[in-house]
Amino acid sequence: RRSISSAQLTIDSSMPADMPGCPSEMPAKESLSFGKVFSPHMLRCRYAKEGGGWQSPEIVPFQDIALSPAASSLHYGMQCFEGMKAYKTLDDEDDIRLFRPDMNMRRLKDSMTRLAMPGADFDPQELIDCIGKLVRLDKDWIPAGEGYSMYLRPTVVSTHPYLGLSCPDDLLLYVISGPVGPYYTTGFEPVRLTADTEYVRAWPGGIGASKVGGNYAATMKPGAEANRAGYQQILWLFGEDREVTEVGSMNVFFMLEREDGSGRELVTPPLSRGDILPGVTRRSILDLTQEWGEFDAVERSITMPEVRRAAHEGRLVEAFGAGTAAVVTPISCIRFEGEDIEVEATGELTKRLFAHLTGIQYGKIKGPDGFEG
Ligand code: PMP
Repeated sequence: RRSISSAQLTIDSSMPADMPGCPSEMPAKESLSFGKVFSPHMLRCRYAKEGGGWQSPEIVPFQDIALSPAASSLHYGMQCFEGMKAYKTLDDEDDIRLFRPDMNMRRLKDSMTRLAMPGADFDPQELIDCIGKLVRLDKDWIPAGEGYSMYLRPTVVSTHPYLGLSCPDDLLLYVISGPVGPYYTTGFEPVRLTADTEYVRAWPGGIGASKVGGNYAATMKPGAEANRAGYQQILWLFGEDREVTEVGSMNVFFMLEREDGSGRELVTPPLSRGDILPGVTRRSILDLTQEWGEFDAVERSITMPEVRRAAHEGRLVEAFGAGTAAVVTPISCIRFEGEDIEVEATGELTKRLFAHLTGIQYGKIKGPDGFEG
């Protein structure tokens, strides 16, 4: 079977026809809002069982895709995606970097495998090389400056044109991109959460650890209800013990003062149950804080009653979400069983992690080995 090969990449650098979201020039940096403006080119690569596997990758002008109305991506959610960014180094705009892209590629392959998509055994470096060519071609669409970047959206959809429930034989992998600005324009904006017990995001044996569209579709209604009640995001819980899993579309961290007075502990829930998305930011925060060695940084289960007790006893130092979009998001309140648990925000660790991670992304700080893409 043929695999993805960057040596076979062809490039059509002509500009797109009149496409919504695709202006002929990059809009003013200040006016950018997430995911509404797209760079002029996209990468695409088809997988066709009859054609012997992955076809030659192509960079083409941003354009619509044609799909059979029977395609299983449209009916059965046969699709998965990634979210990553390309950054211009602050002191050299020609030095463009990705942040740990190997981790996004691994997660994409894992998501594809969970969906029984063929072709998930491609060499991740080959796809990274193709993405690198796309980013270079549209480098004028990476706004320069701290907080600015090009968001990249690798996506795999089934083009399999049959309604019968079966593993797909045909796929389209594509990568679109677009300029994005800082998540926080006027300093950190802490979020108020509700720890919902009515809805569940994911469960053991499910697809919570995969980045598939269905996981997000199911959060819209609970999210809208939370917003109406005055909370920006949901803290997702699992099980009778009310174990904390994720916050909105981020991983979650709690900095606690230990009960026995033996120091501080940074806690994030473990991936072992398979109901948490393995975030690149999450892993990076664990790697960094473990390297600092100033406090324990642990993956262990943590329940809402434990968080509540720590808060009541003055031991909940800070809490934050972690993800590519905002890097870290301070948490200022968690509603649980009728009580608004207030949390001091923005905490020192949240600020320090933001500065450190963005420092690595924009080339100001050297990260641990393997952090630079
Ligand atoms: N959890 C969910 C459900 C997400 O959608 C994301 C964003 N991809 C994350 C966590 C954070 O992952 P990352 O740090 O790789 O962006």
